[in-house]
Amino acid sequence: MTTYSSKTVVCAYCGKETEVTEINSTNAFGPCDLDLRPPRMQRSTIHVTLQVCPHCGYAASDLEKTPENLEKFLNIFPTLPKGKDIVAHYCLAGDIWRLVDEDHDRAFGMYLRGAWCADDLGAPDRAKELRLLVIEEARHLLAAPPPPTPDFLLRISDIARRAMEFDYANSLLKQAKDLSPQGFVAKVIDLEQKLVDAKDTACHRVDEVEQ
Ligand SMILES: [Zn+2]
Repeated sequence: MTTYSSKTVVCAYCGKETEVTEINSTNAFGPCDLDLRPPRMQRSTIHVTLQVCPHCGYAASDLEKTPENLEKFLNIFPTLPKGKDIVAHYCLAGDIWRLVDEDHDRAFGMYLRGAWCADDLGAPDRAKELRLLVIEEARHLLAAPPPPTPDFLLRISDIARRAMEFDYANSLLKQAKDLSPQGFVAKVIDLEQKLVDAKDTACHRVDEVEQ
């Protein structure tokens, strides 16, 4: 089971106190989605893995910290948009990592969590919008060393499929296959290829591979 606790923190952006919820422990049962969204119970902790200040709208994994380059942060974000829900909060957190730190890996993670939250809210247009941002960050990651693994190419392919970017999904699957993946990864790539060919945009899990 998942256990939570709360504590008072001082927001690093506005200096006001707010209460945040923290996860003490959680666990995951069952197979993950093809884009590596974890199974329950960990799946349901997504609403507390981001801390949000109700006073100024700042959203970060740790509200008490700002990006290292504070001057750049304040220049880009002289005020913060007050997000109306968890999707907008994850989007802001991703924007901060992308624009201030230029940390594409962390921006990728924030936007993807935003897309998952949009899925949970039944908001496909917003989920697609967030996935397109994830794909932009993935392009940066794929262009930087080291060369991508078949697993990573497969993951991005799944995110592209969910965003209806089928040509891009196909090109990533081809790159993954060119690396001659073996075993379970090869089977999941076959599954992903079938889904892309069928232009299926639904969520699928790794346990759907043909045994
Ligand atoms: Zn604040």
